[in-house]
Amino acid sequence: MSIGELIFNSTKESQNFEAIRYDNKSITYFDLNDKALSIASLLSKMGFYQSVIGIVGQKNLSPYVGLLGSLYAGCSYTPINTKYSNQRIKDILEACSIKVIIGSKIDLTPLLPIFEKFDVLIICVDGSIDYKNVESLGKRDIERAYPLSNPKEVDDNFIAYILFTSGSSGKPKGVQVTHGNVIAFILNMKKLYTLDKGYKASHTFDLSFDLSVCDIFFTWSNSGTLCVLPENEKLIPTDYIQREKIEFWFSVPTLASFMDKFDSLKEDIFPSLKYSLFCGEPLPILLAKKWSNSAKNSTVENVYGPTEATIHLTRRIYSENDVNSNFSNGIVPIGRAFDDHIIEIIDENDNRIPRGNVGEIVFKGPQISKGYLNDEKKTKAFFVNFIWDKSSDVWYKSGDLGFYNNDGDIECLGRIDNQIKFAGRRVDIGDIEYILRRYPEIDDLIIVPIRDENLLVKSLIGFTTNII
Ligand code: AMP
Repeated sequence: MSIGELIFNSTKESQNFEAIRYDNKSITYFDLNDKALSIASLLSKMGFYQSVIGIVGQKNLSPYVGLLGSLYAGCSYTPINTKYSNQRIKDILEACSIKVIIGSKIDLTPLLPIFEKFDVLIICVDGSIDYKNVESLGKRDIERAYPLSNPKEVDDNFIAYILFTSGSSGKPKGVQVTHGNVIAFILNMKKLYTLDKGYKASHTFDLSFDLSVCDIFFTWSNSGTLCVLPENEKLIPTDYIQREKIEFWFSVPTLASFMDKFDSLKEDIFPSLKYSLFCGEPLPILLAKKWSNSAKNSTVENVYGPTEATIHLTRRIYSENDVNSNFSNGIVPIGRAFDDHIIEIIDENDNRIPRGNVGEIVFKGPQISKGYLNDEKKTKAFFVNFIWDKSSDVWYKSGDLGFYNNDGDIECLGRIDNQIKFAGRRVDIGDIEYILRRYPEIDDLIIVPIRDENLLVKSLIGFTTNII
């Protein structure tokens, strides 16, 4: 089964529920499916099946319809953030051999020079479809884009999306995630959370961040409503949570920390919240305590995982007792793996080490992705077999340091490499240094992360031996 089929089947009985709320507007599952199946029909007519489609934009309806339409057409998608540099966009287009782009007029217009040679489908504000350069279709084909009756089938080993993360050599790494990986994640989540149809889920993440996949696909496979945070409330969404009566919250701890700095986390102000999940960077115990005090009906959960393991694969619920614990660095442990995954700790020679000792966190299970696009060498370095595992299963070497504590939970202690999290976003410091070193004025250079009292990175400072 594909993720498209899973969503299509789970929303059959929820056609009148709201699928997305954005900018005080909303659309139902009926409309979302209808528009996505129309896009899928056009892509099929244009001859695209099992191709990668570029999805441009955020915070309006188009990218959501576009990515679901791509999946319904049996294609994969890769998000293209409008804030990326032209060079990065070109790198992504080339790496994924993209031939067609989908987005809204407002997001696409400034980028059209880059997409000169590409087929472009434009989803207009009223939901109609416009196009540029599409030679395989005439205007009448577009006007008569009868929606497909069902999503196209694809094998669960086929790629659902490709997400690019920062690489140390100045080139982003494309992580290829299959339908099987995403479905395994959704089934794990469904076992853990009980939510009624039409429940409201926050959508704080940009589409180029893998945590957005949880927002979109978990919500849609549960007939919930994806509530897209408006731009002007993105940093302090306190009123938004209250106004929309959000039940399922998912963000990076940095956002909670920001709300806290603006004195937003007042006692019991989020009664609607039932589940609050934090991922992407360490969750300080004191921050978890403050959130828990603001959301008294909600669990507060630290979940952990890299893009390469499809969103997250461990979970630990914060408890009041954590405040008096001696967890490392005052951080909530990342907990235990989902039932169908195994986590081990290894030393620098790839040997498994006894519980309690610190080493690299490695894991295996159905969410482990296929590896990096067009980069066999890197894939082989991180997606490995271990001689102590007699099966031929592939393990992912996370590059994170950690250990199993006495409660059987894993505590994460940071990275073994030069990677940091900046507002939850994965940045390889080597990537920044690589780019800065291209300037002739810069000779020796070092970039240092500056952390706040919650140990979250708040800024980066660069030192160079030359005066610029
Ligand atoms: P990304 O691929 O952007 O999701 O980043 C994955 C990396 O973020 C992991 O390898 C960790 O270094 C870090 N990370 C994710 N979740 C957590 C967490 N709950 N606690 C600490 N670090 C985390």
